[in-house]
Amino acid sequence: MILDLFSLSGKVALVTGATRGIGLGIAEALADVGAHVILSSRLPKPDVMASLEAAGHKVSYIQADMEDPAAPAKLVADATALHGRLDILVNNAGIAYHGDTHSFAEADYRRLMDINVDAVFRACQAALGTMRRQKSGVILNIGSISGYISNIPQSQAAYNASKAAVHMLTKSIASEYAGEGIRANAIAPGYIETDMTAGGLANPEWSPVWRAMTPLPMIGTPRDIGAAAVYLCSEASRYVTGEVLVIDGGYTSR
Ligand code: NDP
Repeated sequence: MILDLFSLSGKVALVTGATRGIGLGIAEALADVGAHVILSSRLPKPDVMASLEAAGHKVSYIQADMEDPAAPAKLVADATALHGRLDILVNNAGIAYHGDTHSFAEADYRRLMDINVDAVFRACQAALGTMRRQKSGVILNIGSISGYISNIPQSQAAYNASKAAVHMLTKSIASEYAGEGIRANAIAPGYIETDMTAGGLANPEWSPVWRAMTPLPMIGTPRDIGAAAVYLCSEASRYVTGEVLVIDGGYTSR
């Protein structure tokens, strides 16, 4: 059955930034198809964990602030220790700051790169250690259409550059480790309804532009990204690596 290829039964997945927004959509989707999902975030959310457990999902939680340079390696080690293996790493945690480039604060630039790029690199490094020993594993990084296009009307050069870095990191890892049973892909979402976009979607100057630039007459949901994550983390995509899958309602088609 073709549907069997999408099963993650018996697999162990770690998802960062997993207790809200896109990360939660991915965690729920992976759990829906049978994975044991280890959710991580900066701030513990016991209510979210309780509702996932109540829904019958196999889930665990590990707190980690990915801005701390030591956190990614520790998180991956702790997650691996829970079940003695790590089949899937989803690097989803990320932040966005807007602002003109000429006056962008150094501290904001540094924090954005620390979380969006450096932490992703470090988590991949740590997971590759585990996955190379297993001779199998899947890495899924969350990039953005902002890694391809310069969004309007808001200025966000640092964020855009961080997501382009995520895309290239993903392709490079895919190429480097393809011979060791490890795949690496990314998803580049367009506008998705989360806390990150709530301000923009409520902004009377930004929201109409975002909507007009998106051919499909809707804003995406975390579930739209979760569905793609199931594909990219499962055997259904066993011949796919180094791909950046754009899910944007057609935004980048114009
Ligand atoms: P949200 O702002 O809704 O959630 C961000 C998540 O990242 C939270 O789970 C948050 O954890 C976590 N996070 C932030 N900082 C840290 C940190 N220092 N350490 C650990 N975790 C951290 O964002 P989205 O769900 O919208 O975005 C998720 C990913 O998708 C990001 O990488 C984003 O760039 C990307 N993306 C989003 C798009 C969108 O339209 N929403 C479009 C394209 C890409 P906590 O809850 O503990 O704060």
